[in-house]
Amino acid sequence: LSEKLQNVFKNLRNKGRLTEADVKAALKEVKMALLEADVNFKVVKQFIKSVQERAIGQDVLNSLTPGQMVIKIVNEEMVSLMGSETTEIPLKPSNEITIILMAGLQGAGKTTTCAKIAGKMKQKGRSPLLVACDVYRPAAIRQLQVNGEKQGVPVFAMGENQNPVNIAKAAVEHAVKNNMNVVILDTAGRLHVDEEMMAELQNIKAALDIDETILVVDAMTGQDAVNVAKSFDETVGLDGVILTKLDGDTRGGAALSIRAVIGKPILYVGMGEKLSDLEQFYPDRMASRILGMGDVLTLIEKAEAQIDEDKAREMTRKFKKAEFTYEDYLENMSQVKNMGNIQDLIAMIPGMGSQLKNVDLSGSEAQMKRTESIILSMTPEERANPDLMNMSRKKRIAAGAGVPISEVNALVKQFEMMKKMMKQFSGQLSGKKRSKFRM
Ligand code: GDP
Ligand code: MG
Repeated sequence: LSEKLQNVFKNLRNKGRLTEADVKAALKEVKMALLEADVNFKVVKQFIKSVQERAIGQDVLNSLTPGQMVIKIVNEEMVSLMGSETTEIPLKPSNEITIILMAGLQGAGKTTTCAKIAGKMKQKGRSPLLVACDVYRPAAIRQLQVNGEKQGVPVFAMGENQNPVNIAKAAVEHAVKNNMNVVILDTAGRLHVDEEMMAELQNIKAALDIDETILVVDAMTGQDAVNVAKSFDETVGLDGVILTKLDGDTRGGAALSIRAVIGKPILYVGMGEKLSDLEQFYPDRMASRILGMGDVLTLIEKAEAQIDEDKAREMTRKFKKAEFTYEDYLENMSQVKNMGNIQDLIAMIPGMGSQLKNVDLSGSEAQMKRTESIILSMTPEERANPDLMNMSRKKRIAAGAGVPISEVNALVKQFEMMKKMMKQFSGQLSGKKRSKFRM
């Protein structure tokens, strides 16, 4: 998917003007990509329509190529579809009890997520109580107790063969008596949407003053997740959604669909089995994930803000051709400094992030100064032709810069590493279609 999209945008780069045909052709590919990411068909259709309306006839910003402009619009539209802002579970004042009802199919991650939420509440200085309302499986009650213990959060349970409504009522009484202010109800799921499960949830909602009804849904179920969310919302009524198992390789198309179809916010995302693996939902990150294009927009914005256009273009060209010299390194150092960590910058290039995890290209201000003095100690010839570097040259450079030779070695190594990655990057960008367009 990611590769496909990169191809689309790549084809648009460096073209003079964006024609209607260009936009349509590109969006056709975007459409395929979204469908592949398991975004609901209706949502895709609406999305493509709105992007098209915006893209055609709009001026391409001076500082952007037409391709970047399309990326910008696609990205903006996705973010706005998903809510543009991060959301939190609203809580009552500390002297009142907030009751949270967690619903979802079996295996979606309810019990785990209840414990994760309880941990978050504790971090906020709240006093949470976990409540075992899944009375059908003894293992479910034990699971909640084990997780509660891990989080240091008390668990209220009355065993099996009890009515979940009575358990919930008793739990709230218990919370009142013990000055607890967040009650989290873990309920029973079923393998499929079924009437008994819905009735149970409705009964709990009728008997108690539930503040937040949250659906826990498995992101890996893709299209199904949308249908599940829809029927829960219609039958029980939802206030928000938590998407679990996003640590897998799912593209997360469900996030886009759910937000678009039921209009309720995605509150958190589950990023693993560990109880700390619950993260805030960031629409912009999710958009990038669904499109599989890295933080392209951030990259554009950073570059736009800090480097003047021509230099950026030249630098990009050199990046792509892996022609980067010490001279360039020096010349661009102040700009690179302004743009922040070069590692961050490169990590934002699609496909590069993962390869960079173990490489440290970061440099402090002081290190930058030393780097500068090392490069200044090179002859112009050496700066322009990094391949000239050898031991005796390094020794001379080290002496000239007044640094140990190990620092010169480190710089050379770092430089070579960067060059190698640029080469890889340009290879990725060009791929098989190299002949079709100039980079
Ligand atoms: P429930 O039936 O809805 O209560 O689901 P559980 O909480 O029992 O979770 C079902 C399985 O999914 C368990 O093995 C959990 O460890 C796992 N799980 C829950 N959330 C996540 C998540 O965000 N990522 C991953 N990888 N696994 C999760
Ligand atoms: Mg459970």
